[in-house]
Amino acid sequence: MDVTGRPRAAIVVTGSELLTGTISDANGPWLARQLSDLGFEVAHLFVVGDRPADLTAALEYVSGCALVVTSGGLGPTADDLTAELVARFAGAEMVLDEPMRAWIAERVTAWARRNKVGEEVFAALDVGTRKQAMVPVGAVALPPVGTAPGLVVRRPGGPLVVVLPGPPRELQGMWPSVLDAAPVKELLAGVPAAAARSLRFVGLPEPRIAETLRELGADHDLNAVEVTTCLRRAELEVDVRPRPGAEHVAQALAEAIVARHTRELVSADGTSTDELLARALLDRGWWVATAESCTGGMLASRLVDRAGSSAYVAGGTVAYSNAAKVSQLDVPAELIEAHGAVSPEVARAMADGARARFGADVAVGITGVAGPDGGTEAKPVGYVCFCLTTGDGLVVARDPVLPGGRADIRERATDVAVHLLLRAARGS
Ligand code: ATP
Ligand code: MG
Repeated sequence: MDVTGRPRAAIVVTGSELLTGTISDANGPWLARQLSDLGFEVAHLFVVGDRPADLTAALEYVSGCALVVTSGGLGPTADDLTAELVARFAGAEMVLDEPMRAWIAERVTAWARRNKVGEEVFAALDVGTRKQAMVPVGAVALPPVGTAPGLVVRRPGGPLVVVLPGPPRELQGMWPSVLDAAPVKELLAGVPAAAARSLRFVGLPEPRIAETLRELGADHDLNAVEVTTCLRRAELEVDVRPRPGAEHVAQALAEAIVARHTRELVSADGTSTDELLARALLDRGWWVATAESCTGGMLASRLVDRAGSSAYVAGGTVAYSNAAKVSQLDVPAELIEAHGAVSPEVARAMADGARARFGADVAVGITGVAGPDGGTEAKPVGYVCFCLTTGDGLVVARDPVLPGGRADIRERATDVAVHLLLRAARGS
């Protein structure tokens, strides 16, 4: 048990390609989130290369945890060693799981036929299949999502180890059967509920939450909860996790925080901003259009990321040059001449133009200086003009100077636009 009263968990991600910067780890953060939500205290997240000694050392290091989850190295090739090393860690022999072998062989053969693989390759495939069907004695084998089974193995007197494949789609696809495996269920029965309250705000500086917490500390037992704040681009996420048995304290504290910052509140139940925006647009029956310069379509892309967006996204225009703003969005050339392409006036004309062209109910225009060059004293790098207009006369304009480099500025600008839309669609 941790000082927090929660059982500790560790994640060991394997893959040499993760240590060369070739790809970034998608499994560690995903698993960390699942384990936290289940109520574990995630104590370690290791990334190790495909070297037996390193994987074994990592397993030994985390052997004091209640649960260890590994990712990767379950494939058919010789450098895929995780199952064998975990078996050794658990002190278990490996045996061939014949039904599993037959199951994998069937799929591999079907794949080989589809791809017209020559007969001579079948022998090699068979070796790989046999390897993947080797299971530590006493382990629970989880049905493969790809070709490799997952494993749940206990080290006597030590942690329960869950072994999962590396490809994120396979790992995530296997998660339901992890939760369904008897030894995992048994472990989870003793894990106190996490019941974290996840609050999200926009336009709320972190020091103000710190100040709020100091003040609320007079009436609430802050030792009974764990509060983490995380600034993610434009949004501030505040998680309130109860220590075991202190759920009521967490609920009351979360409500008190919300009551102090209703104006900046985006979500009090963890629902994503994009989901909230989709619901608000649908509730309104609004069609949305976008007119983007410096964000180059990022807003439109974000809007259509969500399945079902065809019910409220009319379309969008990327108008980067002045000529494109004039020809594609009907921005008067004189307006650009008089105020510059990055100006509140042009942002508004872009929004109006997109709304008219797409026959939309609401549109957002974005034009800014993304940098690193092109800034002036009056319009520095990061200066971005936004304008939202609606068919019934609502006009909302903003022209902040956004921090960071070119990529940050473009991402933040997209966030600002999403929040402008959300506020307008919610009618707040
Ligand atoms: P396979 O049968 O595909 O070899 P495996 O369980 O052995 O499965 P790995 O060999 O570790 O998995 O990884 C296969 C591929 O999956 C990697 O090349 C990589 O593209 C992806 N992958 C593995 N681990 C991760 C990770 N932690 N984050 C993102 N992608 C990953
Ligand atoms: Mg592999």
